[in-house]
This record gives sequence, C-alpha cells and structure tokens, in this order.
Amino acid sequence: TTLAPLSSLSPAELEAFLESQRTAYAALQDRGLKLDLTRGKPSAEQLDLCNELLELPKGHKDASGTDVRNYGGLSGLPELRAMFADLLWVEPDQVVAGGNSSLTMMHDCLVQLLLHGGPDSPRPWVQEESVKFICPVPGYDRHFTMLASYGIEMLTVPMHDDGPDVEAVRELVKDPAVKGIWIVPTYANPSGSTCSQEVASALASMDTAAPDFRIFWDNAYAFHHLTEDEAKSADIITLASGSGHPNRPLMFASTSKITFAGAGVAFLAASQANVDWYLGHQQYASIGPDKVNQLRHVQFFGSADGVREHMARHREILAPKFAAVDAALESALAGRDVATWSKPSGGYFVNLDVLDRTASRVVELAKAAGIALTPAGASFPRGVDPNDRNIRLAPSFPVLAEVETAMAGVATCVLLAAAEKLAGVKG
Ligand code: PMP
Repeated sequence: TTLAPLSSLSPAELEAFLESQRTAYAALQDRGLKLDLTRGKPSAEQLDLCNELLELPKGHKDASGTDVRNYGGLSGLPELRAMFADLLWVEPDQVVAGGNSSLTMMHDCLVQLLLHGGPDSPRPWVQEESVKFICPVPGYDRHFTMLASYGIEMLTVPMHDDGPDVEAVRELVKDPAVKGIWIVPTYANPSGSTCSQEVASALASMDTAAPDFRIFWDNAYAFHHLTEDEAKSADIITLASGSGHPNRPLMFASTSKITFAGAGVAFLAASQANVDWYLGHQQYASIGPDKVNQLRHVQFFGSADGVREHMARHREILAPKFAAVDAALESALAGRDVATWSKPSGGYFVNLDVLDRTASRVVELAKAAGIALTPAGASFPRGVDPNDRNIRLAPSFPVLAEVETAMAGVATCVLLAAAEKLAGVKG
C-alpha cells in the first residue's frame, strides 16, 4: 500500500492521522529509551578492529634507522608520509604527518594565515578590513564554529550532489575580502555528496579577487566507502597547480575514522611552498610529532593497500547501520511527502530534510522520547538553518539494534511534527 501525501488528506483525515501519531508518540515515550545519534564517532566494534595497535610498535626504529622515541622529524615519519601520499595521490614531499587531529592542522593553518598570511598574501589576514569565508551548507559544524571564534564572516552557498554551487562561489570570490572556502570533497558531512572532477576543476581554476584565496579541502572521509562503488576524490592539488594557483588548496585527512578517533595520525598535503610555509611556522610550536604512534600505524597497515583492506572491515560494520536508517525512514515516510533523505555511499552521516519549520520540533520530540539528535541547524553557520528543515543523523556509534529502534522513533517524531504543522497545531 502506498501511503498518501499528508498534504492531500482532508481536515478530518488529518485530524485522525494527528491523533494516531500522538498515540504512537506516547507509546514511544513509554519505552523510556536512551539512545544517541548525535555525533559521528566510530563504534566500539570498529575501534576493536585496531586493538593490535595497542601492542605496537615492535622496536623503536623507522626504516632509515631513526629512533622514533626521540625528538625531531617535524614533517613526520617518511614511510607514513609515503603511504598516505599514495592514498591521497600526491608526492611524499607534499605530505606532513602530524599529531592526532586534522582539525588542529586546519586551525593551525587558519591562525597562521590570520597572523602571518600565506606565501602569496599581500599582508596578514588580520590586517584586512574584514575576512570572509564561503561555507557550503549544510556543512560540518566545527568548520563554522572555528571561523566564528575568530570573527570571520560566513557566506553560505548551497551544497549539491556534485559539490558546492560553482556559480554562487564564482560570484562571491569577486570580493577580495573572501579568502577561503571549506570543502569536504568526498562523502561530505552531512550531505554525503562527492565533489565532481568538473566542480573541483572550476574551483581550482576560477579567478578570485584575493590573490591568496584558500580551499580548505578537508578529505576526512576519503576512504570511507559504504559500497563497492568507491568514489575517487578529485585531485585538487594537481588541478590547482595546472591552472596556475598551486597554493590555493590545503588538503587535510586523518586516520581518526580508520584507527582510533582519539589517537590516530593527521595529515596535511599541499604545494611545496605551502608545506614549507606550514612547517616554517610549526617549528616554533613543536620539536616533532608523536613518531611512536606514526611507526605503530606504519606497522599496522604495512602499505596503502593495507589501509584500503582495513576500510573494507569498517564498511562491513557500518553499511548495515546505514541500511537500517534508510529502511526505517522508507517504511514510515515513503509517499507521505514530508521528508527527503540522503542515501550516502560513504562517510558517516545521513542528511534528513523534514517539512520546513519542523526540524527543531522533531529534535525536541525525539529528545523528550530519549533519542538524542544533533541540534537542528547545527550544520549551518551560527547554528541557524533558515528553513528549519535539516537534521544530521549519525548512525555509526550505536549498535545495529539501537539504530533500528532510534530510527523508528525518529520517523514517528517526523510524522507527528508534520501532522501538527499541517493541522496548524502549535507543538
Ligand atoms: N573533518 C570532518 C568533515 C569531520 O567530520 C571530522 C570529524 N567529525 C573531522 C574533520 C575531525 O577530524 P580529526 O579527528 O582528524 O580532527
């Protein structure tokens, strides 16, 4: 049986539907659930895949005989840089292996640009009258809060299935105060979309009024495929150097969702001038990264193929959870015309768009039924979704049965909020 769109119901039918959803919601509340779909954290089962790391490294020397226990080697262990250069399609010299967090590397780059400017900046960014960034939405909340913490103005552009809206970006970069853009190119947080070769090429080559415009290319989910149809990230560094803007992209990645989220290794990849610039400032902040952890990762993976094989084991754990999200939404909402959602082929999130002006109500209803969701609007600058329709679902952390229960509950909340809205009832 196909369900009718809610908007097609007569007033009496809608009233009856609202009543049935109130009953369903009351039953949901009675279950006293305590479930959490808020953040994209790996589950314990995923973390267990890497327990061998806790017994590594064997020995304390890298391939060249360097004692990893000591100070030094600011750019990271050569073998690990080579391994990730292979995975990210760049040269080993273009890769820095750093600490445990790529977000920290993004923050370091931003702060150095503000305080010192980049290799091709006329002056430090703080000396500009204002600094603005382009933020594709929905996007990653921590990107936006980082900019907000430095008073950087955020200009939104829509995120499409093939990446950010290129024409909107082209308009905005005519303003010399616009210094950068955030992009999660592969399996974006939260939309799941992957930046196409065409979009990447347009971004790499377009004229920008700022001579030191930066693409913060955050490839956090580069290898995090959910299907065998593995998306290949566009090679932004080659595209940019080929079009005369070698320093435009700063690429970031990490093993946070490959090994241990809190104890992995983060990477920066960029032009030689950008790498020299980054390390030139970083030398005042560190004598060298945690090379013991880097050697542990080298030994655990063995090779770039070792990383790819390891990601297949994550996929086996994650794919059923994403399938459960889709199944729950499909069975409750198909045909109702009150929600659309992404069917990502990688990454950590499902993007759920509900009826306009009901997302906060859905999150509130879910919370009161013991299901924690990311706050509505979190994927927008300053936490404000102008349409109040976007909800980010993160199914990785709970076990499968909990994902199923939580998502059936979310679907009930979506229907109740939509029925309230259409019936003109104040939630
Ligand atoms: N970038 C994106 C797009 C993310 O979703 C996350 C984790 N939620 C991060 C960066 C954080 O990366 P790291 O652990 O390397 O700091």
